[in-house]
Parts: sequence; C-alpha cells; structure tokens
Amino acid sequence: MATAIPYGKQHITEADIKAVTEVLRADYLTTGPKVDAFEQKFADYVGARYAIALSNGTAALHLCALALGVNQKSKVITTPITFAASANCVRYCGGEIDFCDIAPDTLTLDIEQVRKKLEAAPAGTYQGIIPVDFAGYPVDLEQYRALADEFNLWIIEDACHAPGGYFTDTHGKQQNCGNGAFADLAIFSFHPVKHIACGEGGMVTTNDEELYHKIKQLRTHGMVYQGDERLQENHGRWYMELQELGYNYRIPDILCALGISQLDRAEAGIQRRRAIAQKYDEAFRNTQIGIHQPAQGIGHAYHLYVIEVDNRKELYDALRSQGIYAQVHYVPLHTMPYYQQYGFKKGDFPVAEAYYKRGLSLPMYPTLTEEEQDYVIEQVKAIAG
Ligand SMILES: *Cc1c(COP(=O)(O)O)cnc(C)c1O
Repeated sequence: MATAIPYGKQHITEADIKAVTEVLRADYLTTGPKVDAFEQKFADYVGARYAIALSNGTAALHLCALALGVNQKSKVITTPITFAASANCVRYCGGEIDFCDIAPDTLTLDIEQVRKKLEAAPAGTYQGIIPVDFAGYPVDLEQYRALADEFNLWIIEDACHAPGGYFTDTHGKQQNCGNGAFADLAIFSFHPVKHIACGEGGMVTTNDEELYHKIKQLRTHGMVYQGDERLQENHGRWYMELQELGYNYRIPDILCALGISQLDRAEAGIQRRRAIAQKYDEAFRNTQIGIHQPAQGIGHAYHLYVIEVDNRKELYDALRSQGIYAQVHYVPLHTMPYYQQYGFKKGDFPVAEAYYKRGLSLPMYPTLTEEEQDYVIEQVKAIAG
C-alpha cells in the first residue's frame, strides 16, 4: 500500500468546499445565520429540543459543568477510558473527579460499579455522572437516569463518539445519543477524527430550556443581549449586560457551514461505518482477536473499531511499519500523572487497565476502501490472529 492508512480521517467533498466559500463571500464570518442553522439541523439530527454550537467539544464540556453549578464542593463520576476532557471539565470548575471501572463487554462506565460507589458514600457526596459513549457504543441512559434520580444527580452524556448512535429503551423505542430524553446535557465534538469534521467545533444538546439559555449566555462572555433577560434598565440599543463570568467559546459561521454540509452525509457515513465494522467482525470471529459486537437493540456509531489482542504492542508497531496507523484509546485517565496526584493509582480499575493492555483501534472512517480494509484485515490476522 502506497499511502498511509490512519485510524480515522475526515471526508471533505466539493459540496463542503462550496458551502465554506459561500460564507467567505457573505456578510458574517462569525455570529451569523450559519450558527443558528447548524444548531437547528444538529438538534433535528439527534432529536433534541435545543443545540448550542461552540468552539470545541472541551468548551462544550466546560460550559455544561459550569451551567450545572460544578464548584469546589462538587464530586463527579466518569470513566477512566475516555479523552481527558471528559474529566478535566470538572477540574476547570474546581470540582473533584472520581472514576469508576468500565464494563468489559461495552467498555463504557459500569453502572453497577457506579451504584456501588454511590451506595457506599454518605448521601449528597456526588453531584453528577459523565458517562461516555465510548467508541460509539451508546450508554443506556434510561438506566443511568433512574440511578441518577435515586441519588439526585445530573448527567452529562459525552457523546463525542456517537452522533447517529442509539440504544433501545424498555418500551422498545430507539433513543438517539444526545436526544436529551434522559441526560440533562450532551456534548459532541467536530474535530476531524470525529464523525462530523469542522476542523474544530463542538455542540451541546439538551431538552432543558433553562440550561440552554444559560450555556448560550456563557458562550459569549456571560453577556445578555435580549431585553427580557436584562436585570437593569435598558440604556438603548447598544446596551448589553454582563451578568456573570463567561467565555468566548463561539464557533465561526465558516465552520458551521462546513458542519451543515457534513450533516447532509451523516447518515450515509454511519451506514458505511457499520458496514466496515461488520466486515471486521466477520474477519476476526473465531480467531484470537477479541471483538466487541453490540448487544441487541444497540445502534453503534463506530467512531472507533476496537479489537483486543495479547500482543498489542507488537501488533501496533508491525502495523505502523506497514503504513497502518492504528491507535490506542485511551491510556486510563486515573493512571495519568495529573490524576495520580489526587490519589488514584495503577490497580484501581482492573477492567479498564486490562482493556488498555490489549485494546487497539483499527482504521474506521467512511472513505476507507474495500481494498484498504482487506489489507488491514490481512495484516492484523497475520500478526495477531
Ligand atoms: C474529542 C473528544 C472530546 C473533546 O473534543 P474537542 O473538540 O477535541 O475539544 C471530549 N470527549 C471525548 C470522548 C472525545 O472523543
């Protein structure tokens, strides 16, 4: 193979380029109509009432934590198998992070472990949970909602890996990731390795009107522009009111135009990802290579396709030398120096650590060709099968 095959890759079409250049020729580069249009279209796509577009997924997490009132007294649970931002957002607000182990089949936060932790702690110890739809495997948020209600907690769904994913609830209804039916807030990222690539970008979705307004306000410095929400008298049309400390976490219209154009292909992208996964599944079934097939009723979004092998490092290095850039997701967060200073250590979460030893993310993106995938399968089987 002449060209390198990465684990993930954006897909830019002529339609995307046209959409972006149209904005460059128009009146608004930022804070214009494309932001609202992207929000509306994304909300419709996931089935949520509200969406707020932001500069990136990490900013989305930060504002969610702020809007939910995370502060120095807060304690929040998340998974160690995630990107650092899922936990860091709580630290930005001075809150404390606690981790819980993952379930070996789904590789997402193990709800039984979370329940045990909540039951063992004095009432009121924890304020929230941040489950992550790891690799695109949708967390069963109906179960999490019941648990959260029992312990009076909020939920932020980190759905960066799962736009287009769904689980099936106890009434047999498909519940899309980020639809706001169970979680208070959900967040997404439009980094180029994710499903929808804007370069940088993020989104919050929610069905909660109050949180929606709060996050919108925090996105632009904490300023209020509309008359209704002003606390003081209106001095004139120029009068904007600074009501609390916010940030500039806006996303430009240029990137929103790209996001809108990409959303047109989102469903096709998911279908292609599922077809790639099915081909990998069939190739690796009955071999030494561990696969993670979704349970009945799960609509996996396949941001990543993860396998588990005994000789992970050997496989990673060998694939690399063949031009296949597989990746490891993730080094467990609790073993990172930053989180070790808060008392976490190796051995705390054995399932996450066992997965980290064996896990590898194979190339997974809609434009991966049949020929490229055949080559990846052949190489993986030769080294680890
Ligand atoms: C990518 C990602 C983020 C952060 O998104 P950015 O847009 O890169 O800031 C957060 N959580 C998870 C699980 C991610 O994969």
